[in-house]
Amino acid sequence: MRNIRLRRALPTGMSGPYFSRMTNAPTRPVALVTGASRGIGRAIALRLAATHDLVLVARNAGHLASVARDCDASGARVQTLAIDLCDGPATATALTGLPVDVLVNNAGVAVMKPFLEMTAEEWHRQVDVNVNALYHVTRALLPGMVQRGRGHVCIIGSTAGRNSFVGGTCYAGTKHFVMGFAESLMLEVRDAGVGVSVITPGSVATELFPEGTNTDWMLEPENIADAVAFAVTAPPHMLVHRLEVRPLSPKRPRSSL
Ligand code: NAP
Repeated sequence: MRNIRLRRALPTGMSGPYFSRMTNAPTRPVALVTGASRGIGRAIALRLAATHDLVLVARNAGHLASVARDCDASGARVQTLAIDLCDGPATATALTGLPVDVLVNNAGVAVMKPFLEMTAEEWHRQVDVNVNALYHVTRALLPGMVQRGRGHVCIIGSTAGRNSFVGGTCYAGTKHFVMGFAESLMLEVRDAGVGVSVITPGSVATELFPEGTNTDWMLEPENIADAVAFAVTAPPHMLVHRLEVRPLSPKRPRSSL
């Protein structure tokens, strides 16, 4: 069942597909990465391109195509799917039944401001992407993994899923949800041969932060991609369940370390 032909696996007639490569090369396991159009998701895609064929998901089709081209040199076959993951029916239609070996639930948004200053739209957007999209994507792909008796669900949580801070009522709340979800799901599906990992980064220099934020001291997206690769390529009998990755010395420029 590892011998999935990515092309055959994907629904036809989908808008905006971009195949970077269609060859008769030996097939590889397939990894689907959400939020792959930039930031941590893009770095994960580039890192996994060395070992996996890829399905890259986000809303921005142009950015996804650019990431797919960047993965080309690694020999990965890449399909992009431009989907708003807040749209449950569209997500289910696009993803249900895809024979994906590794699912990286990475897409996320953050609006860090005090509860009384947060608009209803900002609240709902965070819950929709960080919590409900996690449901839509995982619900579409997990049954196939359980049926095949193998697979890996890797979720990008956050240290905000363990800590609290001013401005974190919603974002930290959604990331606390992610921890409870990941830890419970792991117990539910491990005996079916499916692993669940949650990677919890500290601060990473991406567009998650408002323009003008000093990101000099933060981790780089590639650091998180390395952690994901470590988790999803571990030997079959070994599960890396929780992995926290932080800057060594926050708020200190790396150059002075
Ligand atoms: P980012 O640069 O803002 O990237 C967010 C990604 O999510 C983009 O690819 C975006 O793509 C996608 N996305 C957002 N809304 C979406 C939607 N409705 N449907 C589909 N895709 C959507 O942020 P990042 O820092 O890489 O964050 C990635 C993950 O890491 C998030 O879960 C975040 O909570 C977590 N994290 C980040 C940090 C940090 O310090 N940066 C720390 C801990 C955890 P489109 O806009 O193209 O849809």
